[in-house]
Amino acid sequence: MSKIQLDVIVNQRGNRTDGFINYGQKADLSFYQIPVIIVEGGKPGKTLLVDGAMHGDETEGSEAIIRLAGELEGKEFAGTFIGVPALNMEAFTIVRRATLTDEFNLNRVFPGRKDQYITHYLAAHYMERVVSHVDAVINFHGGGDVLHLEPLCAFLPFDSPDDTAAKISYEMAKAFNVKYLWSQQNLPFAGITSLEYKKAFNIPTIIPEVGSQCSRLHNRQRDIEICYNGIKNVMAYFGMIPPTGQAPVENKDHIELNYLHSRNGGLMTPIKKEGEYFEAGDLLCVIDDIFGNRVEELYAPWKGVGIGFWSVPVIHPGDWCSLAGKLIDPPKDYKA
Ligand SMILES: [Zn+2]
Repeated sequence: MSKIQLDVIVNQRGNRTDGFINYGQKADLSFYQIPVIIVEGGKPGKTLLVDGAMHGDETEGSEAIIRLAGELEGKEFAGTFIGVPALNMEAFTIVRRATLTDEFNLNRVFPGRKDQYITHYLAAHYMERVVSHVDAVINFHGGGDVLHLEPLCAFLPFDSPDDTAAKISYEMAKAFNVKYLWSQQNLPFAGITSLEYKKAFNIPTIIPEVGSQCSRLHNRQRDIEICYNGIKNVMAYFGMIPPTGQAPVENKDHIELNYLHSRNGGLMTPIKKEGEYFEAGDLLCVIDDIFGNRVEELYAPWKGVGIGFWSVPVIHPGDWCSLAGKLIDPPKDYKA
């Protein structure tokens, strides 16, 4: 039996339970809620947690979770699949990155607190009532409404060669099967899921970034498919389901993702495209002002590959204008 206790059961049929975890009552007596789908395979195995829309405008993972839960329903498999299709349900409902209530970025406030704002409260409840009960996590992200991102998968940086959580996370990332593998070393921010889950429970997490503002019109189903296949490949890695038979993506690149910020606002044009390799000193993007004057040129600080960019023409000063992958070696001293 799953250890996740739901406050509201919406549906219970066969091996599947749908419901909500409540984490804060509003003035109208309704609750802030986390939607949860629990599908139990009936055979002993791992408990895998997969969540989408932790940023409310990043929904490719959400659709993959809904689709896969539907397929697993009524089937026998090893372990338990826990799907959270919209972790930040408030933000998801209004198609925003964050809830309007406090505007905090949910992926900067982990492990959360119960004595601060509603986003901190959500993180604390999720850690305590869901994450603490699972063996591994897939935490989906994407480009949302303003970024283009090539599909990539982040894994835990190694604290030592014997770092078990990092090893499993690295294997999960390889199994997820996309071109770019991002070791989350030298992150410029704190309070994110993977590092905090490891600190609190020593569990492995991967963070796939799939989908983007400018690929949705034509590639929404392709991106959902990448997420869907990725979850199944990770389930197969854990022995929850048989191997999927999906051909591995060849020539995977190991990268350190760097967020290069613009100093000026204006109209931004990417010069190096997604998937394009560049050398140190190459021009990555330019920004022009409203009168057509060039106000900024952004150059590559090192050799790398274009992973993403601000996909809306108008950019603010200080925004991420280029998401550049610095090419790095695979984890040192790594033994599978
Ligand atoms: Zn995100």
